Amino acid sequence: VKRIGVLTSGGDAPGMNAAIRAVTRVATNIGIEVYGIYDGYRGMVEGKIQPLTRRDVSDILDRGGTMLGSARLPEFKSLEVREKAVEQLKKFGIEAVVVIGGDGSYRGALALTEMGINCIGLPGTIDNDISSTDETIGFNTALTTIVDAVDKLRDTSSSHHRCSVVEVMGNRCGDLALFAGISTGAEIVITSETGFDEGEVLDRLREFDVVKKKNHALVIISEKITDVEVFARKVSQHTGFSGRATILGHVQRGGSPVPADRILASRMGEKAVDLLMQGIGGQCVGTQSGNIVGVPIEEALNMPAKSRKELQNLFDRLV
Ligand code: ADP
Repeated sequence: VKRIGVLTSGGDAPGMNAAIRAVTRVATNIGIEVYGIYDGYRGMVEGKIQPLTRRDVSDILDRGGTMLGSARLPEFKSLEVREKAVEQLKKFGIEAVVVIGGDGSYRGALALTEMGINCIGLPGTIDNDISSTDETIGFNTALTTIVDAVDKLRDTSSSHHRCSVVEVMGNRCGDLALFAGISTGAEIVITSETGFDEGEVLDRLREFDVVKKKNHALVIISEKITDVEVFARKVSQHTGFSGRATILGHVQRGGSPVPADRILASRMGEKAVDLLMQGIGGQCVGTQSGNIVGVPIEEALNMPAKSRKELQNLFDRLV
């Protein structure tokens, strides 16, 4: 392999730039040329492709977002569209590609590998919703952002006998909510794993108020479970707390990556280049018990979601 491409795809995440930099530096330092593919698979099809030198990736390590841009291209599922992409790659002499994104992006990477272009996937998403890795690139930064915001909310809500209902991201993975709940000492965490029984949650809030005499309560809830504005109004109506909803939204995707994400992205970028140099494609990089591993994408996509029973028990014992 003489020349590889790198792209970011799907939702962006802090640390994607660190991964782009690692791929570029590790590859160019062993004499492999690197090309940046802009705007994900869309740019691959349209030929938005340019060489990346080691200097092009200077000063991006600490920046959020992705210097290559990201996009969604649902049409990439069609063979015809992917054939155009392969044509472009051939035109630029790109033999293999590192794809940084979520599980949708992994499917594209697998499809391309099956067409003769070896691809390696790196898990770039704040949601931590990829089972083949302990942690995804961006998760720890998003968690830090949530904890900072919730700590601030707590200060003001305890002055006003409030119940803060905070919605966090996660795309049906409860990790951001649960990890944030443990980190901030939330009273209640609601995820797709815990389920949501509105009546029961209101009962528990009344207990926090009347029996435990708490002067504030914090509920952290994953996105896509319920309308938190409506729920906060019910808290006001049915408990002694005044309910306030806060949807953290896209601030969770931004910001400078924390050191843990920079290190993870660098280790994963290195591994991606090493796998491609061994002629391996169709794998994604992950950490398992702290070790960097390559896992076949097909296997990764079929793994069951990580169980958080132990952490959920811990959370319950801390309330
Ligand atoms: P994420 O990678 O964050 O999960 P998406 O699910 O939007 O985000 O996927 C990103 C892109 O990957 C899609 O816009 C599409 O171009 C490509 N993709 C997703 N699923 C497939 C598939 N089954 N086959 C080929 N490409 C796919």
